[in-house]
Amino acid sequence: MPGNFYTVRCPDCENEQAVFGKAASTVPCAVCGTTLATPTSGKAVFEGEVLDIVERRERTDTIAGESEAQ
Ligand SMILES: [Zn+2]
Repeated sequence: MPGNFYTVRCPDCENEQAVFGKAASTVPCAVCGTTLATPTSGKAVFEGEVLDIVERRERTDTIAGESEAQ
């Protein structure tokens, strides 16, 4: 299930803010408080311009090299 973040530009102050695509509650702009995203039954509806989509990486574990054998 995708859990992407969206970079949304506030229509009032042009602050760029990352908003979760499935926001469970209204997301206000951190600067001026304008509503940037409104939750719906499916995914959030964005009030500002969506500049970018950031896919959440499922694989965050780092594989350490263990080739060193003595
Ligand atoms: Zn704003």
